Amino acid sequence: MHCIGRVAPVNVAPIAAPGTKRTARRTAAARQLCRAGSSDEDGNDDDRERRPAQMPRRKLINLAAATTALVVSNKANANEFAGDAAMAIMNRVGKVKMSDDEWKAKLRDEPYAYEVLRHEATERPFSSPLNTEKRTGTFTCAGCGVPLFKSSAKYDSGTGWPSFVEPITPAAVTEVPDYSIIFLPRTEVRCANCQGHLGHVFDDGPRDRTGLRYCMNGVSLHFEPAADA
Ligand SMILES: [Zn+2]
Repeated sequence: MHCIGRVAPVNVAPIAAPGTKRTARRTAAARQLCRAGSSDEDGNDDDRERRPAQMPRRKLINLAAATTALVVSNKANANEFAGDAAMAIMNRVGKVKMSDDEWKAKLRDEPYAYEVLRHEATERPFSSPLNTEKRTGTFTCAGCGVPLFKSSAKYDSGTGWPSFVEPITPAAVTEVPDYSIIFLPRTEVRCANCQGHLGHVFDDGPRDRTGLRYCMNGVSLHFEPAADA
């Protein structure tokens, strides 16, 4: 599988993470669209729809794609399909509304975080200290600070990226179809609050837990240890 978007311009290398499996719990339509790149079609759908849109490239998305993309949002609502909410998702605007220049200024001390969160770069595997963070605590968004993952959900995936079996709550993240690698449809994971890019979710996580692997860029997260950690 990949955990990959465009690679960050600094401190990074082209990446090919191990494996090829992808997101679980897909809709029938999503499985059909994803079939070209995966041999794992065990399905296990649930009510959290991930329905990849017909988007050859993210840069080329149109309103129709935006509407479809909203369907996979945890907050999808039929009344929002053609409205501002759909465009906000596609424009990476969440409750936190800041321009690119404002994000760049806010994250001036964390340039890698800016590239990942706002421009979908991918950090080099095994480069983040959070990959080996084992203390009890909470992983928060490096962009806006909201809690995203509990340490209890973290596990060693061996991929070189901090990996989790689930977000702190389903509503904490937004999951959007990602066709930036045209032959390898993936599901992007964003902070629901600021729409910052975090990574991707795949269906090769621990089978005795959720079966999902939230493959996150460490620079997109901060860690807040528990008081007794
Ligand atoms: Zn955020």
